[in-house]
Amino acid sequence: MLALVKSGPGPGLDLRDVPVPSVGINDVLIRVHKTGICGTDLHIEAWDPWAARTIAPPIVVGHEFVGEVTEVGANVADFHPGDLVSGEGHVVCGRCRHCLAGRRHLCAYTIGLGVGRDGAFAEYVVLPMTNVWHHWPGIDEEVAAIFDPFGNAVHAALSFPILGEDVLVSGAGPIGLMATAVVRHSGARYVVVSEPNGFRRELAARMGATVTVDPRERDLTAVQSDLGMKEGFDVALEMSGNATALRTAISNMAHGGGVAILGLPTADISLDVNHIIFNQLTLRGIYGREMYETWYQMTVMIQSGLDIRPVITHRFDFRDFEAAFAAARSGDSGKVIMDWQS
Ligand code: NAD
Ligand code: ZN
Repeated sequence: MLALVKSGPGPGLDLRDVPVPSVGINDVLIRVHKTGICGTDLHIEAWDPWAARTIAPPIVVGHEFVGEVTEVGANVADFHPGDLVSGEGHVVCGRCRHCLAGRRHLCAYTIGLGVGRDGAFAEYVVLPMTNVWHHWPGIDEEVAAIFDPFGNAVHAALSFPILGEDVLVSGAGPIGLMATAVVRHSGARYVVVSEPNGFRRELAARMGATVTVDPRERDLTAVQSDLGMKEGFDVALEMSGNATALRTAISNMAHGGGVAILGLPTADISLDVNHIIFNQLTLRGIYGREMYETWYQMTVMIQSGLDIRPVITHRFDFRDFEAAFAAARSGDSGKVIMDWQS
């Protein structure tokens, strides 16, 4: 099969012929239809310090996908050839305290698809059956292809009550954009999106932002007073990884507010802890998706009218992966999809 491989240490990816993965007794083999490019794939492609520390080449990269089951192992009863599925990219141990208690997103021994095991930027991918999610017939396959990052957005966006609340989203990358649509769908009053990139601010408005702000030009106190807000944001979703964005969010919260932190900073961030204490804020780290409550929430929100399609801005054949990666890296993009069926 053809696959995008990180062949050795250093920048770049190779489109290579590699063996179709073998199918263990608990595994599901999937013919990949479409994939999404994630920031993680960009880090691996560029071979930054995180990738150099984390990745052991050769490895097939990629973890956001939709495809069709082609073969199942002897123990697998719930999946059949022809089923349309996506995969949860975190393969957990199944044996630790949290896994046994059903809190699999808290597993400390998680292995990442396309990070610690061969991934989905390939004609075929194999996963344990416990990592495979059934889609309903008729789902838009491009939407199905990005359930993994959509799940990051949903996990963060629904980590505090949203109905009637005023929400700040910092960073309108693909995940912040989807989170904007999720909190709008979930009954937020005001959704303020802070994002320096104009292309992405425009997308945020389409995803349901009440107001979009360039943080270099306007401060959030002014935005709050324009909206008639008096006490600050009830919920903030930090989706930029930027230190100033996190500090600004914290200083604009209402007493008792909740800050979900998903954006990954590249260095330590100092925070005003007194402010966090006296204003009784809750800061919560968000990683991955809950298995499988988040997947259920994604499914039913799409079925009840949530539309995340505006986040998909670019489509490429997998053979044009270099152009696809360049589009994802440019910043003037939302989600970039590669098609593996041509
Ligand atoms: P992205 O890099 O495409 O988006 C980040 C956005 O933040 C960009 O549009 C950028 O312009 C904006 N930004 C930069 N400085 C800002 C500032 N001061 N104020 C407001 N916005 C600012 O990333 P993405 O793919 O949307 O992912 C969002 C973040 O989440 C990234 O940091 C990513 O590494 C991280 N991530 C975390 C998880 C997890 O499980 N915790 C999973 C996937 C991604
Ligand atoms: Zn575990």
